[in-house]
Amino acid sequence: MNNLICSSCAKKFSLQDRIWKCSCGSFLDIEFSASFPIEKIRRRNLSMWRYQEAIPLNDHENIITFQEGFSPLLPLNFWGKKVWIKQEHLFPTGSYKDRGASVLVSKIKELGLKEVVEDSSGNAGCAIAAYCARAGIKCQIFVPYDTSPAKVAQIEAYGARVHRIPGSREDSAHAALEAAEKIYYASHSWNPFFFQGTKTMAFELCEQLGWHSPDVVILPVGNGTLLLGCFFGFKDLCQAGLINKTPRLLGIQAAACAPLYWAWRKNSAVELSLPKYETLAEGIAIANPIRGRQILQAIKETAGDILIVEEGEIKEALIDVARRGFYIEPTAAATIAGLRKYLRSSPPAETIVSVFTGHGLKATEKILRILADLH
Ligand SMILES: *Cc1c(COP(=O)(O)O)cnc(C)c1O
Ligand SMILES: [Zn+2]
Repeated sequence: MNNLICSSCAKKFSLQDRIWKCSCGSFLDIEFSASFPIEKIRRRNLSMWRYQEAIPLNDHENIITFQEGFSPLLPLNFWGKKVWIKQEHLFPTGSYKDRGASVLVSKIKELGLKEVVEDSSGNAGCAIAAYCARAGIKCQIFVPYDTSPAKVAQIEAYGARVHRIPGSREDSAHAALEAAEKIYYASHSWNPFFFQGTKTMAFELCEQLGWHSPDVVILPVGNGTLLLGCFFGFKDLCQAGLINKTPRLLGIQAAACAPLYWAWRKNSAVELSLPKYETLAEGIAIANPIRGRQILQAIKETAGDILIVEEGEIKEALIDVARRGFYIEPTAAATIAGLRKYLRSSPPAETIVSVFTGHGLKATEKILRILADLH
């Protein structure tokens, strides 16, 4: 059966209901049986929508797309070890968030909604704003006051109404939740359709590796939109019999704000953990990840782990990849810093995948500061 299902009380709802959370207050997940008609898939465009039988949308007329996805998977060498890097910074709005936005905004069109709200530290807001512009849907985006000017400009240019909220990332989430009492919440952390988009990265990885699953995938984790998306995607592939096990998922957090790391270490519940100091990895500094419990479950189920990285390691990783010609934002460099840490003691002959999540052009001021420190 295809349903929305509550993660907490297991109440079920129709996929056509215009809701984004359960009546009990908890977040929703989607039960959907994905299929992969490989011969058809092979003949389609190189976009994430080639897996349309694996995405819960009733009518493909509603798809809102820029033909995004199927990003290049390039092998890079780190200390003699080969790592496959998925170049998710090359998406239309400059981050992988377009995967989630494409599916969520398509669903929003299918539901006949005319306006949405979202809150974001930047990239999710850019993605929702762009896809809403393409769909002709009005949107309001709540961002923290100190969000990168490049991201705010991008959101406004797409025609969204931007609300800059003083205070922390949590304050803008709170402001958006209030607005979401009246307007549908196109949230990348709450809304389960967003994860039905990010899961397509797992499909592409498998296809690009000749329908084989990697051994380990190293991903950022704040709200877990990519990590959980990959988890759901690999599970779909397992259920369809295309792979026989999910890879180990390794989540990377910034030491400045690492509630998941601490909960994982102490084998305890995720506790609110405000950033200890300002981090370069603004995109993953999530003090209160609403799907925290679900993220820890995914790490456990795949025999994965969570690592933390310091600011110095983030800078080093950013410069390392830039000197090879890849321009990524500091939040994306945090994942590569975690990858470098993992490789120090990783077993030989593993198939390792990691990701460039966001484009460097989004964070010019931060990168200028990193360069100034080099001299
Ligand atoms: C959103 C984002 C992340 C991490 O996402 P979470 O959903 O918070 O786990 C990492 N890098 C970039 C560039 C992002 O935009
Ligand atoms: Zn419930």
